[in-house]
Amino acid sequence: MTTRRDFIKSVPAVGAAFAIAPRWLGEASAQAQEGTGAATPADGHFHPKGKAPSKFTLEALKNAKSTLPFADTRDIEEQKKGFIAPMKELKIKADAGHVAWDMERFRFLDEKEEFDSIHPSLHRQSKLNNNYGLYEVIPGIYQVRGFDLSDITFVRGKTGWIVFDPLISKEVVQAAWNLFQEHIGEGLPVSAVIYSHTHGDHWGGVRGIVDEDDVRSGKIAVIAPIDFMDFTVSENVYAGNAMNRRLFYQYGILLPASPYGYVGQGLGQAVSAGAVGLIAPTRYVEKAIEEFEVDGVRMVFQNTPNTEAPREMNTYIPDMKALWMAENVTSTLHNIYTLRGAPVRDPLRWSKYIDEALHRFGFEAEVMFASHHWPRWGKDRIQEVLRGQRDLYAHMNNQVLHLANQGVTINEIHNVYEVPKGLQEKWFCRGYHGSPQHNSRGVIQRYLGFWDCNPTTLIPLSPAESAPLYVEMMGGSEKILARGRELHDEGQYLLASEIVNKLVQAEPDNEPAKDLLADIFEQVGYQQENPGLRNSFLAAAFELRSGIPQGETADSSSPDVIRAMSTELFLNFLGIRMDSREAEGLSFTMNLITPDNGEKFSIELSNATLTNIQGFLADDPDLTLTINRSDLEQTMIGAKTLEAQIADGTAKVDGDAGILKQLAATMVDFDPRFEIMPGTKGRTEVAHAEPYEAVPRKTIAE
Ligand SMILES: [Zn+2]
Repeated sequence: MTTRRDFIKSVPAVGAAFAIAPRWLGEASAQAQEGTGAATPADGHFHPKGKAPSKFTLEALKNAKSTLPFADTRDIEEQKKGFIAPMKELKIKADAGHVAWDMERFRFLDEKEEFDSIHPSLHRQSKLNNNYGLYEVIPGIYQVRGFDLSDITFVRGKTGWIVFDPLISKEVVQAAWNLFQEHIGEGLPVSAVIYSHTHGDHWGGVRGIVDEDDVRSGKIAVIAPIDFMDFTVSENVYAGNAMNRRLFYQYGILLPASPYGYVGQGLGQAVSAGAVGLIAPTRYVEKAIEEFEVDGVRMVFQNTPNTEAPREMNTYIPDMKALWMAENVTSTLHNIYTLRGAPVRDPLRWSKYIDEALHRFGFEAEVMFASHHWPRWGKDRIQEVLRGQRDLYAHMNNQVLHLANQGVTINEIHNVYEVPKGLQEKWFCRGYHGSPQHNSRGVIQRYLGFWDCNPTTLIPLSPAESAPLYVEMMGGSEKILARGRELHDEGQYLLASEIVNKLVQAEPDNEPAKDLLADIFEQVGYQQENPGLRNSFLAAAFELRSGIPQGETADSSSPDVIRAMSTELFLNFLGIRMDSREAEGLSFTMNLITPDNGEKFSIELSNATLTNIQGFLADDPDLTLTINRSDLEQTMIGAKTLEAQIADGTAKVDGDAGILKQLAATMVDFDPRFEIMPGTKGRTEVAHAEPYEAVPRKTIAE
């Protein structure tokens, strides 16, 4: 995985800037105390251009604090309940030598009651996520929390431990297992693994706890919802490079942990950076509701496809009266629309599956636990949370469409839609992953798409094309800067960003404009309750101030993940990697046969478009390529070129092998650091991918 570490390492701009930081500090505190709307350098900020929260930001956070339900401390009790042992080592090393997990950097969150640059609700959530150790859910069910974005759960089976959701990477799973064994595990082995869903933070660490031979021999069952393998990577392949770039914003990958920067991700503190692997399931839950024993424990599985993930399932353990809600119900409003980009989810369906879980299991369950956050105990509390979450997603669907049916557009809905008061007062309905703002826009996107129906926005000019006219009509850059600064100093940050953004779009090299826009974004960022929104504003501020970091990015596609990619998906992706402008005039027909898995494809390049169809072969192809799928994977991983496969006879060609070269010449390396804010791009060196490499780069946690 490419990690925060890789990027921080490659931020020369910041490194150099630290040297001059102390000069700013003397002036900083005196001005900050006055409480001003003007941009004031911040004492202790990680960036030399970083600003303190303005009096407007202080006021916004103070107001938020006074309206939040702080009297309800049940989450704090629930998070503590069943605590067995802390994890003593704050850092967990990866086998590759770097730090895979670091809780030390989040200790500052517990050192103060409040921070004037962190929304009090987000601070509270981040403090809850700072808990780090082993917990009992009920006798026989245990969780290790705080070792990754997600939790790992151990359920006592007849012969060993049934593991739910083995985190993101091997090393943190091993550390969790060691802690668990030290106190509770009795030296018993893992007897089964259950992947609740397809997102990478629920399976990536499986190799830390399971030997694949034991899975192959049938000793350890690996259980997952139907079609699990088809969806583990498919969500992240086609638009993968764009998604990875957008993670810089949603997950604040460049931001140091700091009151002025990264303060956690809401679902958990961060994404671990060890080795990612995947062992394919051996048993799939196929029916809507299915009951069977896992290592002697009776389990009822409820498939919930196309909710939080394309494939997901809840599990009820009747003999323990324990309800596992996967990631369908956690202590947050989840993403309907996810900022890194993904097809918009269906909140109504999601709500209905929660309702079904309530009616099937929720009246009987005595404990409810999940793959993020902490459990809920007692029938009343379980039902309160299930009802609240059910209503939260249904309301978002219904009320947004209610408003859309009255003409409210995708460009207005976030300013109009409100979560009902009763739900706003429930901590577990607040927006630590999804926000009411971006989710409500997502609902409209799902049903009506991007267009607000005003023809002006139907085929608009690109921002860089229209911005110069705005700048001219507004009287030039000096005027915009002056007015922008005034609006900033009055706390009118969104208005200020409207006009200063136009200037930055028109004049990407205008440093004062970029600095002012960064100051504006920063205040908006400090005011956000939602970490994805906060990180996005702060990340844009960072890039405007320092540019996009340079240096090589680590490319560490996991072979396991590539193996999970079907040949069809791979061929489809080649069609995306191909720059069709380079393929004008080319045309061929090719057959691909992979004997070891019995697949065949007819592939055509025509009209500068690469297509493939599975199960067919062309009668008179220009080329037939025969290669075992297992060998093809070496090429997909980038370990062995297709040329080398042909040269040593691993792949057989019949016909004109030259077309492979022609096609290879049209393949483009995607830049994982393409420019988002104008004028922020340096000389990026793009890691080279082989022409027929698959490069999904990393699994995306959620
Ligand atoms: Zn997750």
